[in-house]
Amino acid sequence: MKHTLQHNQLVGLLDKDCHDRLLKHGEWVRLIPGQQLITPEESLDYAYFPVGGVVALIMQQANDKPIALALVGLEGMVGLVAALGVQLEPYAANVLSPGFALRVSAKHVYTLKAKHKHFCRALDTYIAGIHARFAQAAVCYGQHDLQQRLAWLLLTYSQRVSATEFVMTQALLANLLGVRRSGINKAASSLQDAQILHYSRGQMQLLNPVALLEKACQCYAMDTLQSGVVIAQHPHAEDAKPH
Ligand SMILES: [Zn+2]
Repeated sequence: MKHTLQHNQLVGLLDKDCHDRLLKHGEWVRLIPGQQLITPEESLDYAYFPVGGVVALIMQQANDKPIALALVGLEGMVGLVAALGVQLEPYAANVLSPGFALRVSAKHVYTLKAKHKHFCRALDTYIAGIHARFAQAAVCYGQHDLQQRLAWLLLTYSQRVSATEFVMTQALLANLLGVRRSGINKAASSLQDAQILHYSRGQMQLLNPVALLEKACQCYAMDTLQSGVVIAQHPHAEDAKPH
């Protein structure tokens, strides 16, 4: 399979010279569910530009339950601190859905950002968007009920994989939302009774995404806005739209 770096929306905004240099210094790698791309507090060697698949940014400390701060797919980049010349991420990056990514050394990301204004602008805008999404995640975790948060997660994941039917276990949902499986079961059952989704043996089917959107907290709209902001705010946005 031939991968096209242009499929990563962040990279799709770059001029040809910067795009080619990124490709030259990068290596295509497979994203495998369960794989950990970034381990917290370990030296960050690489950044990843997905062209498919979904990666969850997970925060976990000591004996606390993990929570997903954000889901990253082909709209973004994993290993953001590489762009800042920082070597440690405080959170983990775990692959949820299979795909491919261009893996580029943290050193080259930092060097390219310093030399190419388009790359610098795109990354800075994306970092600002992720920052806003992290802040929203804190509000979501503390203020919004589990059914709202489950709806947010399912819609965000569905958007990233471009599908309304996918594999998603209750254990994984519990880990992403920082709750017990029994809570996921109760929230999912309620949505299933309303015929908004169908859930059986880890197979999730969104029967009525519009109704699910009405159940979600405003974090989904915020997430969608901030994920797309890098495209919308970039001076070459019109050129980057698919033809
Ligand atoms: Zn929320």
